[in-house]
Amino acid sequence: MPDDGYSIKDRASYFIKTRAWNIISECGIINPPIMAAQVASKLGINVSETYLDGASGLLEPTEKGLQIKLNAEEIQVRKNFSCAHELMHTYFLDGKGRSFIETVMKIDGFNAARNLEERLCNTGAAELLMPRDMFKQAANKLRFSVASSVASIEPLAKMFSCSVDATSIRVAELSPAPCTRIRWKIANGTPEEPTAFRIEHSTEFKLESPPKAYPEALRLRSTKGILRSKFYKPKMDASEAVFRAYSGEGVVRSDERLRTNTVSIPCYVESKGFSRVPWRNVISLAFPKGLL
Ligand SMILES: [Zn+2]
Repeated sequence: MPDDGYSIKDRASYFIKTRAWNIISECGIINPPIMAAQVASKLGINVSETYLDGASGLLEPTEKGLQIKLNAEEIQVRKNFSCAHELMHTYFLDGKGRSFIETVMKIDGFNAARNLEERLCNTGAAELLMPRDMFKQAANKLRFSVASSVASIEPLAKMFSCSVDATSIRVAELSPAPCTRIRWKIANGTPEEPTAFRIEHSTEFKLESPPKAYPEALRLRSTKGILRSKFYKPKMDASEAVFRAYSGEGVVRSDERLRTNTVSIPCYVESKGFSRVPWRNVISLAFPKGLL
C-alpha cells in the first residue's frame, strides 16, 4: 500500500480487510457460506450463545483466552455477522485486552475512536463473510443487467448466510457500475398503510476507476484511483416506485433524480420490498445515468 494519498481511515480499512483475507486463506475457505463461529474456533477463540441484554455480541478476554458471546435470541444471519464483527475486534486489543485504537486515537476522544473501531469491525466482518472475489463471482452469475440488480440481494444473502441489509450494502459496494444503496423507512402512516417514506440509510459511491464523465461537483477527493462522491446522504423523494415495491413482490424499475447540496443527477433505480409487515421495508439501488 502506498504511503501517500491515503488517510489514516483508508489505511485502517485496508488493514482490517487484509486481516479478513488472511483468515480466509489460513482457514482454506474457498466457498460460501462462511460461518464466523467455525472460523473463530479454528483460530482458537471460544464462541458461546447466551442472553445478552440488548447487545448482539461481546468479546471477552478470559484466563483461557478470548471468548465471543453471541445473543442467543437473534436470528442466524445476525449471529453470523456479530460473530465476525467480534472476531475483528481481536485485532484492536492491546496485550491487556483493552482496545488499542482507543489509546492511539485519544486525540479525537473516546467516542470517535469507538465509532471508528466499530466501523472497521463492520468493514472487516463484511469482508470476511462476503469476500470480495468470492462475492463478485457469485454476483456475476446472478447479474441481470450491466449493473448489479436488487433482485440478486436475496439469493446472495442466502448463499453467504448474511442478512438482506448487509448483503445489499455489499452489492452496492462491489457493483461494477457506481451505485448507492438506499434503505427506506416509513415516515408516516402505519406498516399496513404507509403514506410517506424517507431515506433511513444510504451508502456512498466508491469508484475504482473514475470515468471522465463523472461530474466534477461530486468529487470529494481523489486518491490513487479511488474516488468518493459527496453522496454521504443522497436525497431523493420516495416516488410511487417505493410504494409499489412495498406493496408488491417484484422489482420496480424507475427513473429518479438523486440530489446533493450542489447537483441533481438522473438515476436508474431498482426497488424491492423485503420481509413481511410489520418489519417490511424497501431497498433501492440507484445508478447514476451516464455512468452505467
Ligand atoms: Zn463492536
